[in-house]
Amino acid sequence: MRILIANDDGVYSPGLRALADAARRFGEVRIVAPDVEQSSMGHAITHSRPLTVKATVIGDHEAYRVNGTPADCVTIGVAEWGKVDVVLSGINLGTNLGNSIWHSGTLAAAKQAPLLGVRGIALSTPTADDQPDFAALGPWVDRVLELLITRNACPLVNVNFPLTPRGLRWTRQSVRHYDGKVVPGHDPRGRPHFWITTVALEAPDEGTDRWAVEHGWVSLTPLRLDLTDEKALAEQAAVGG
Ligand code: MN
Repeated sequence: MRILIANDDGVYSPGLRALADAARRFGEVRIVAPDVEQSSMGHAITHSRPLTVKATVIGDHEAYRVNGTPADCVTIGVAEWGKVDVVLSGINLGTNLGNSIWHSGTLAAAKQAPLLGVRGIALSTPTADDQPDFAALGPWVDRVLELLITRNACPLVNVNFPLTPRGLRWTRQSVRHYDGKVVPGHDPRGRPHFWITTVALEAPDEGTDRWAVEHGWVSLTPLRLDLTDEKALAEQAAVGG
């Protein structure tokens, strides 16, 4: 079993190290991840310049840093290693729930896997004021990897751990309106600038990813890459023309 590890927080993130350490009992681990943080960069790929891949030190794992995006790292990692069985992305410092799936670099790395014919799993956990306690989360990471790597064949799964899990739940993606809140301010020279933040406007429905994590469950959402609106397609087909 060949397990490729990527993320969007950068190759030196403690979340990536925790994931690689947990993954090694399921097979051979190789890390290919961005050299700097690429959070919220979505599924961008770099095609206007060449990329470099440099060996680096992450514990005693085989690891490489790439001056590209999360999706670039998975593309290069799969191409250079040959046969990869599963791509793991994370563990992200911050949840990737609901609408976040659209712009998340963590999800992009996982989504790139099924585009290449490989299974992909994204893993994320909230950050409070401090770094997540990956040692405490360890048994839950082991349990999820055991389930998703060895006892499940879903092509793409989005996993979010609450800080203190009480169990696992399979969920749907929450799609709710948010305000796309823009917070204006000024830099030290008095020039105006803007922070883009997002605040959900509505409570999540029961059974969704946001609902699960808010209630202490580890959320497992099976995703698909086909975005076709089947209902609209059927309606239009019925109308004809
Ligand atoms: Mn991130």
